[in-house]
Amino acid sequence: MAKRFDKKVVVITGGTDGIGLATAKAFAAEGAHVYVTGRRQERLEEALEEIANGAIGVQGDVSDPSDLDRLYARIKQDHGRVDVVFANAGISESAPIGGIEEDHFDRVFGINVKGTVFTVQKALPLMSAGGAVVLTGSGAGSKGFANLSVYSATKAAIRSFARTWTVDLKSRGIRVNVVSPGMVLTPAMQTYLQNNAGAEEWMKQAIPFGRLAETAEVAKAVLFLASDESSFVGGEELLVDGGFVAV
Ligand code: NAD
Repeated sequence: MAKRFDKKVVVITGGTDGIGLATAKAFAAEGAHVYVTGRRQERLEEALEEIANGAIGVQGDVSDPSDLDRLYARIKQDHGRVDVVFANAGISESAPIGGIEEDHFDRVFGINVKGTVFTVQKALPLMSAGGAVVLTGSGAGSKGFANLSVYSATKAAIRSFARTWTVDLKSRGIRVNVVSPGMVLTPAMQTYLQNNAGAEEWMKQAIPFGRLAETAEVAKAVLFLASDESSFVGGEELLVDGGFVAV
């Protein structure tokens, strides 16, 4: 049976850990030519072993446009096209209003917002009709959590990009959607839960499904939004949060 992403060229930023890594594995298992980025070369190499299936890593920081130029130059040379962009790299840092430092603001907006804009914009010359862009938002973009105003605002911006870019790109036949995880059991989340007594119980009480998500569950939603199965879905936000925001 043909694989769902056979020979499709798929770019995943922040593909060395957590949601990006799980998604890279899922695309690779479905036959895609997967390109992942991450900041640390050593971790990138470990991730490539996990993803397997010929995945390629290009070290780089999404907040540095020249690193993105290197990424797309490599893909242009290898395949001459991009079919799917999963703009996933992002960081979460907290600071209460009254204590927001300029470098916190610049770092979180630089990676989450500027990084997303140029990850997508620089892919466009290599994309054609039928292409799909999936952005990583967050339930935090629709809710108020203490001390998370800057992070949450970056995710609200991402939700907004999907609306406008859907209009901007309609003549090109490129679809743009957002996947918004809630609380996901990534390695970083596991460390957070170990260091913050009571956090896991609070989350389980707050999430209607009574548990956190597995990274593979977010990956399944990304593959849906990137595939032809969602051919008439555009500018949408797909919450993968066990009902946390919607209920
Ligand atoms: P993670 O920390 O486990 O992985 C993030 C990945 O992004 C890593 O591969 C890291 O190397 C990479 N990365 C970070 N900054 C980068 C940069 N400047 N350039 C290139 N790569 C960079 O995180 P995760 O939890 O899997 O998060 C992935 C996305 O999901 C983020 O956008 C995050 O905001 C979002 N998200 C996560 C959760 C959650 O519960 N884990 C919830 C909602 C949204």
